[in-house]
Amino acid sequence: MMVSTDRTRNAILDWVDEHRADIIGLTQSLVKFPSENKTPHGEERECQMFVADFLRDIGCRVDVFRPDEVEGLTDHPAYWPGRDYSDRPNVVGVLTARSDEGVAGSDGRKSLLFTGHADVVPAHGEGRFGWWDGTVDDGKLYGRGSNDMKGGIACYLMAARCVRDLDLDLSGDLILETVVDEESGGANGTLACRLRGYNADAAILPEPNNMVISTANRGGQQFRLHVTGESAGMGFGESVLTDPITALGHILVALEKYNKERNARPKPEGFEEDTFPIMPFVLRAGEVLPWGTQDAIPDSSYLEFWIEIPPGVTKDQLQSELRSVVEQATQETPALQRVSTRWEEMTRFLPGTGMPADHPSIKTLSDNLEVVTGESSIHAAAPFACDAFMFNEHSSTPAVIFGPRGGNSHAPDEWVEVEDLIRLTKTYALTIADWLA
Ligand SMILES: [Zn+2]
Repeated sequence: MMVSTDRTRNAILDWVDEHRADIIGLTQSLVKFPSENKTPHGEERECQMFVADFLRDIGCRVDVFRPDEVEGLTDHPAYWPGRDYSDRPNVVGVLTARSDEGVAGSDGRKSLLFTGHADVVPAHGEGRFGWWDGTVDDGKLYGRGSNDMKGGIACYLMAARCVRDLDLDLSGDLILETVVDEESGGANGTLACRLRGYNADAAILPEPNNMVISTANRGGQQFRLHVTGESAGMGFGESVLTDPITALGHILVALEKYNKERNARPKPEGFEEDTFPIMPFVLRAGEVLPWGTQDAIPDSSYLEFWIEIPPGVTKDQLQSELRSVVEQATQETPALQRVSTRWEEMTRFLPGTGMPADHPSIKTLSDNLEVVTGESSIHAAAPFACDAFMFNEHSSTPAVIFGPRGGNSHAPDEWVEVEDLIRLTKTYALTIADWLA
């Protein structure tokens, strides 16, 4: 559904080529803000103020607000409590159709929304490149957040600047937002924007899914499973000690078996070939003291893990299956019968979700990607959980995931493919021009 003329299209492609250095520079500027999400707080403020200034410069009406000051947020069933939103503003910019002061998305006008999270996973570990330098080396731009997802944010900000600089006659509303608190399954920032009234015909979310157009994505949840014994120490014949370390070992084996079984079940459309992992993050038990390992059995242990799920799996289903894995292992294993277990939710439940793959915005995006790359576009489900579910399940706006290639997300030397930043900016700008023509 491409309606932009050849002239408009060529003007956009030329503009982006001429502003290559600005696109890279904007990505670097965003990476330089250490907007780490150290749950329950986060350091997004400076980065968000920078985005707000950018949006004002290109002529947007800008709204800066704390997520928890939005009416209805903390009462919403999808709100996840326990976060501190002081100094953590969401930022939304709206470019309305010329000489039009109406409310975005109202009156049947066309509208398009871009969304991204400004928070990044905290820097931890050692890499070759500085965390906050944005070093470009051999076609890759390095730094925390470059891939997840400041590269994508820079692309839609520059796409908006492009259509504004070219003075294209847009008849609809372009909404550009950056939210706080996505990492660690926060998602309240994205929910707050929806409740504030920023909704559109379609949303584009440039999480780094390797230039694939994803109308569906995985879900997941992080748990901590506590195993507690009756006593600690080293029995001197007076008692039989419980052993939470061996007990947890049995649970790990049971979880591995369960994961094989659930992956053998039929999977929903688009996820047929996927394997849904259980990723153990922490296994903790016992103590090493300054004078050596304590000669005693500890009284507790825990396992923390992230488990991924396809769309269709509900919170109740996931949690009751996990509980029954431990219950069944307990029945079969004497070592488990003398300890007690307790589940703790470390993140909210993130459902796998999707939007209609035949939504007209997908064709517009896909056609424009093909104009830019000269190759067929690739469509597949995103192999990760993200804030897309807030759009798909808790708003009227369907969200497609479409972002750059990169690597080492959540690890040292995170990088994004520089050439993809250029391709994305072009594809976004063409899509804006077509959708809002
Ligand atoms: Zn992300």
